[in-house]
Amino acid sequence: FAINMDQLHLDEELGKGNYGTVKKVLHKPTKVAMAMKEIRLELDDAKLNGILMELDILHRAVAPEIVEFYGAFFIESCVYYCMEYMDAGSLDKLQGDGVPEYVLARITGSMVRGLKFLKDELQIIHRDVKPTNVLVNRKGQVKLCDFGVSGQLEKSLAKTNIGCQSYMAPERIRGESQNNLGTYTVSSDVWSLGLSMIEMALGHYPYPPETYANVFAQLTAIVDGDPPELPEHFSETSRDFVARCLHKISDRRATYAELLRHPFLVGDGQRSVDMPAWVEKAVRARDARIRNQIQAAQNAMS
Ligand code: ATP
Ligand code: MG
Repeated sequence: FAINMDQLHLDEELGKGNYGTVKKVLHKPTKVAMAMKEIRLELDDAKLNGILMELDILHRAVAPEIVEFYGAFFIESCVYYCMEYMDAGSLDKLQGDGVPEYVLARITGSMVRGLKFLKDELQIIHRDVKPTNVLVNRKGQVKLCDFGVSGQLEKSLAKTNIGCQSYMAPERIRGESQNNLGTYTVSSDVWSLGLSMIEMALGHYPYPPETYANVFAQLTAIVDGDPPELPEHFSETSRDFVARCLHKISDRRATYAELLRHPFLVGDGQRSVDMPAWVEKAVRARDARIRNQIQAAQNAMS
């Protein structure tokens, strides 16, 4: 069946990205809560239809580590994209001052299995691996979203995007001037995975703060500097795993099969981890931080 706007009851906003807004919605016919992403694109109907056709492949992206796709439609020059609602949100907001190693291992396992599924079953490279695209629910499940399946959509978005925190691999930054999309290989996602792991471990973006405000300085640090590492208090095993992801030479990086065999993830498979308990705690801490920020803003005004 095809989803359309008339079937949806709009609820609160879940977040905003560089390209659009994500809202919680209720699909009235099925009573399923969904997340709806609105992307404004100045394109003609033929191109928008092309994007919808390309997005159709997402109906085959069904795996425990992938956010489910329910359907997409367009109204005027906006594409609306409906997906599984993840009730604990994205990891960037849950990581706090950094997640403990056993949680990092559990999250990483899901990410690697999800990325391997996309590549092996659908020949899809994610292209946008970062903590905001790793979603969590209160059952403790960890799933990937926002992977690139539509060439037309990517081309239309590429123009507007220059994020201030880059998860791009060095080879992608170097190749950027020639061809934004051509230099991307599966190992570029492995780099972004390693960088995301460090961010989750630290609770902040790994490259130095001076580089946040200056895109050029940041890209230079990624291309010319040493790759970042997990902090000292993480085990040798976990630090080795991340180092296997963050080789500056792309063909030296581990494959997904190698990462799954690495002791860091083998160890995770042998442990029992209460993820729902961790999620509950992280959600509470996040909501308290948000309340404090609102309070501080109100105090500043009065
Ligand atoms: P970018 O624009 O660079 O991709 P982003 O990933 O943060 O950044 P969006 O993909 O537009 O931007 O998402 C905005 C926010 O909405 C996310 O950070 C996340 O917190 C929330 N969100 C997105 N999808 C869902 C979902 N399926 N369930 C719950 N929350 C979601
Ligand atoms: Mg996103």
